[in-house]
Amino acid sequence: MMGDPLAETHGLCRSFADGNRARLPVLFDINCHIDARDHIALVGVSGSGKTTLLHILGGLDVPTTGTVAWPALGQRETLRPAKVAFVFQRPSLFPALSVVQNVALPVLLLDGRGDAVAAALDLLDQFGLLDLAEKLPEEISGGQAQRVAMARALITKPRLILADEPTGQLDSAGAHHLLDIALYLVGESGAAFVLATHDEAVAARLHIRWSLDAGRLSTDVLPREAHQ
Ligand code: ADP
Repeated sequence: MMGDPLAETHGLCRSFADGNRARLPVLFDINCHIDARDHIALVGVSGSGKTTLLHILGGLDVPTTGTVAWPALGQRETLRPAKVAFVFQRPSLFPALSVVQNVALPVLLLDGRGDAVAAALDLLDQFGLLDLAEKLPEEISGGQAQRVAMARALITKPRLILADEPTGQLDSAGAHHLLDIALYLVGESGAAFVLATHDEAVAARLHIRWSLDAGRLSTDVLPREAHQ
């Protein structure tokens, strides 16, 4: 039997105010849950609300009505930051820090562990980025920065990883290469992974499919063996 879900929503709606005019909700009556080891592709056209849903699931935004909770991550309604990691659409690396410092930073900030740099170098090695460890973000390509951002997300060993179009700046081979490594490392850690994408070939690599269409979410679970 499964334990408590890592995250769940009930009747979640999100709309954005537009002056005095009411607007149709971006997300409407969304009921979903995320269990450990779920690998979820969140698909939908641009503007369908993928980023908004990821932000709410990660505690960066709140529903207009309805609820979001994280029953298996400590307190139900507040998140412990180390348990959830984000990979943003833009890699958002700190420009004055080297690649390895960017990857080590979450560990240094959270508990100052002495082996942060060694762990960061190990992750960079797995992503094929060891040669770039001492470079500054401005010296690497957009695709390399996305791999660095993915490594940074994994370093705290989060229980839930929310990735917003992490393959958006990569060609098809690069996207699959990043997914190979990310899915392997996520699988090893037992974390849940939600990946927003509009790329069907990327979505097909994950065994659960969430589709957003006109504010509604539909879900489809496929046999895990057919994937990765
Ligand atoms: P996607 O990630 O699928 O491209 P988004 O979640 O970014 O979709 O956006 C969904 C819709 O919500 C868009 O119409 C967008 O303009 C609107 N939206 C998102 N964030 C805001 C905001 N902070 N204020 C107003 N409208 C927003």
